[in-house]
Amino acid sequence: MHNLSDIKEIKYILEKFGFSFSKSLGQNFIVNPGICPKIAESAEIGERDGVLEIGPGIGVLTSELAKKAAKVVAIELDKRLPEILKYTLEDFNNVKIIGADALKIDLRAVIDENFSDCEDVHICANIPYYITSPLIMKLLEDKLPVKDITVMVQKEAADRLCAEVGTRASGAITVAVNYFAVAQKLFTVSRGSFMPSPKVDSAVIKLTVRDNPDIAVDEEFFFKMVKAAFSKRRKTAVNAISTGMNIPKEQVASALEESGLECNVRAETMNMNELAALCGNLQRLL
Ligand code: SAH
Repeated sequence: MHNLSDIKEIKYILEKFGFSFSKSLGQNFIVNPGICPKIAESAEIGERDGVLEIGPGIGVLTSELAKKAAKVVAIELDKRLPEILKYTLEDFNNVKIIGADALKIDLRAVIDENFSDCEDVHICANIPYYITSPLIMKLLEDKLPVKDITVMVQKEAADRLCAEVGTRASGAITVAVNYFAVAQKLFTVSRGSFMPSPKVDSAVIKLTVRDNPDIAVDEEFFFKMVKAAFSKRRKTAVNAISTGMNIPKEQVASALEESGLECNVRAETMNMNELAALCGNLQRLL
């Protein structure tokens, strides 16, 4: 079996296939042997479970996932990699590579086609950082039949995604993540664990998907309001929502009052229930 976190073997593989890293595809491969077993462990994969991976690279995490799961399906955009993965993962018969853009492919169809005989489905990946927000939003908004999403992201992104709603560190994406899942920051990974080594440290987070949201809102209207409320960090919510949603200031102010909120409240100080109340009252007044 190939040892894909042995630096000598990695260099041999890259040379054998004449592979050079693509910066624009966010390629930073894990070379610290301690990391992938730890990520796979955190995903809590049962032997009858399926795992969907985004961006396998040369397969260092893929192989750890394949040791635990019934089946692993990995989506990779770089056309040069499937040939390399065929070699590096030749000892596994439960891995399938799909050459596609993870942002464009129909992930529900991928899951339905590949994991129908699996128990739980997990998403687990060291994702390309340049698409962190859209990818995480897609994974959640598509309401995929998955139990959890265990991914490595930039440390700053991890802090934002896992912040408590209603605190300074929170943003619109914190609210969105919290709506669909319970977010946990698991552990940090230093930049030296990658090749090439990026300019920032990383962290592994786990999003445990909720069966049902904790708050009852009109989803479309709620996310429009949240996006508007957080769009101007220094503005009060009343101004940001009024401008962003093109609603007269007085109406937003009434909705805030009816929700028991101060008229000068800022988006990042409201918790989920307050945001939900504001959403309901605002929509009713329109
Ligand atoms: N998981 C590997 C590689 C991480 S680098 C490791 O930890 O070593 C990110 C990977 O995502 C690269 O393989 C890159 O080619 C791939 N990638 C980049 N953009 C992608 C996209 N839109 N869809 C799928 N894969 C993508």
